[in-house]
Amino acid sequence: MTHSRPTILRLLEERGLSPSRALGQNFVADPNTVRKIARLAEIGEGDLVIEIGPGLGSLTLALAETGARVIAIEIDRHLVGPLEEVLLDTTARVVHADAMTVDVADLLMGEEATLVANLPYNVSVPLVMRILEEVPQISSMVIMVQREVGERLVAPPRAEAYGAVSAKVAYFAHGSVVGKVPAAVFVPKPNVESVLIRLVRHTPPASCEGVEPEVLFDLIRRAFAQRRKMLRSTLKQLLGPEDFLAAGVEGSRRAEELSLDEFAALARCLP
Ligand code: SAM
Repeated sequence: MTHSRPTILRLLEERGLSPSRALGQNFVADPNTVRKIARLAEIGEGDLVIEIGPGLGSLTLALAETGARVIAIEIDRHLVGPLEEVLLDTTARVVHADAMTVDVADLLMGEEATLVANLPYNVSVPLVMRILEEVPQISSMVIMVQREVGERLVAPPRAEAYGAVSAKVAYFAHGSVVGKVPAAVFVPKPNVESVLIRLVRHTPPASCEGVEPEVLFDLIRRAFAQRRKMLRSTLKQLLGPEDFLAAGVEGSRRAEELSLDEFAALARCLP
């Protein structure tokens, strides 16, 4: 059983709860949506799943239905009680913690896992980056985020949404948009559309071998500080004409056009 709209409204009313805007609480009230997310995550019997922000358990129930072992990290102490009741007949475990600081690798105890989440809008990018950078045991993710954020995470060079975050994500994973979710399935209804993003971790591309990730990411961040300016001007403190020549990247190009491989070639030429 997953939650319908009347169930969500009843759970909120019975507990005297009102969704917190600050914590990005928009609860899914549509069984089809949460089952679709569980299918896209390609999880099944015995798989280990981390969910961030289970809320009232809409998605958690659909994940548990697959037979996966779910560890759900929820920051809001007011939701922990109702959530534990909702999940009583499942094997899902609730951890009351902030997903930005909890030791996720420790919760996994060395096992590989999938992350599945309807992420709170205000921390979705830092949460995804934290998992990609710090928790290599998480080999894939299916996340629901607001459309503009999702498009930014997986945009290729030259796309309007392409930015420093897209290039960083490409270092760790292959990403794609795998679905759209209308605002109407949420309680309360947000003002924006959401998308489903799938990220599958890969080893960093060969072009990045031997380049320190921090050095590469710092260069990418500086380059995108003025995304439409020529790189020879944006990066002039760091790289001279001979460096652009050595990297095979023309200094007249702009950050928004450069692939991760090209950023890596430039990073190799840093002093
Ligand atoms: N998964 C539920 C659903 O789909 O109905 C709720 C999703 S709601 C968009 C986001 C949830 O993340 C809320 O329950 C909120 O309290 C929780 N949350 C917000 N910030 C968090 C954080 N830093 N760590 C863990 N949970 C967080």
